[in-house]
Amino acid sequence: MQRVLVTGGAGFLGSHLCDKLIATGYEVLCVDNLFTGSKENIRHLSGHPHFEFMYHDITEPLFVEVDQIYNLACPASPPHYQFDPIKTAKTCFLGALNMLDLAKRCKARILQASTSEVYGDPAVHPQPETYHGNVNPIGIRSCYDEGKRIAETLFFDYHRQHNVDIRVVRIFNTYGPRMNPEDGRVVSNFIMQALHNEDITIYGDGRQTRSFCYVDDLIDGMYRMMNVEGFTGPVNLGNPGEFTMLELAEIVIARTNSKSKITFKSLPADDPTQRKPVITLAKEKLGWEPAVALDDGLEKTITYFRGL
Ligand code: NAD
Ligand code: UDP
Repeated sequence: MQRVLVTGGAGFLGSHLCDKLIATGYEVLCVDNLFTGSKENIRHLSGHPHFEFMYHDITEPLFVEVDQIYNLACPASPPHYQFDPIKTAKTCFLGALNMLDLAKRCKARILQASTSEVYGDPAVHPQPETYHGNVNPIGIRSCYDEGKRIAETLFFDYHRQHNVDIRVVRIFNTYGPRMNPEDGRVVSNFIMQALHNEDITIYGDGRQTRSFCYVDDLIDGMYRMMNVEGFTGPVNLGNPGEFTMLELAEIVIARTNSKSKITFKSLPADDPTQRKPVITLAKEKLGWEPAVALDDGLEKTITYFRGL
């Protein structure tokens, strides 16, 4: 039985990945410092003979024996990664460094959860993997954007210099059950506001776009990437459907039968104006494309948030 390490395994994506790995027959070691994650997300796995939780911060070295590593540990929502930006940069850089050293020691394959944020506020639209991005190195998003960029650099240098077997996925906005309702991301904010008939807060004029991928699709793509041979990436994983935040607000209001009104707040600095992945490479190399439409994914997510 293969033993797999999932860092950030108590978070939104990490907990779904742990579920998938356990269901597929792996032994899972879930490592998390519970900064944004929660034991609630993995409670159903506790006591499972093939699941183990370890409280650990990946800015510190880790000595365990594993066959594969998924490196997901890092706060992902802007308010959370901006809460302690120096810590975010350390998690991105030192965390990647420590996990790469572990992969080198164990001869384990390692996958990095990178992000569409490496494209910054993109001047090329939609974004292919060959686009090098437009990132402000000194802004309030930089701890995360530049952190994820240097992590990608480390991954490719460990690959070139030490022959570490790497995989890099660039994740575009992903949503679904187990998102932290208070983490400030747009999908969770809008759904929570709509369910409470509170004002829906649109930042800026609401014409900025994002592409939203349902969590099951994303986890499927990540798993395929880890297990494909002869392809390091980076590869975009996201749903190419593109929506303005105004459209998203209207869909959420309609789906929840909410009485909420839309209100406009100021746009945070460096907020990207557009986002949409080119997924040709994922289709070609992984045979992957998203299967869940926004309407269906939102339905499941709304049901989850109603139940909280
Ligand atoms: P999340 O905040 O729910 O999960 C992150 C997890 O990492 C949490 O459980 C948190 O406690 C843990 N963590 C944070 N710092 C840590 C540290 N120093 N040591 C150990 N654990 C630590 O976020 P998520 O949406 O599940 O994101 C998971 C990964 O995917 C992140 O690396 C994120 O950058 C990446 N990503 C997510 C999205 C998305 O839309 N969800 C988009 C792009 C990239
Ligand atoms: N956003 C918004 N209202 C909110 C939260 C976010 O209009 O209550 C906007 C935000 O300014 C951004 C988009 O929605 O343009 C996506 O924000 P999120 O924080 O989910 O992700 P990211 O900006 O990292 O893509």
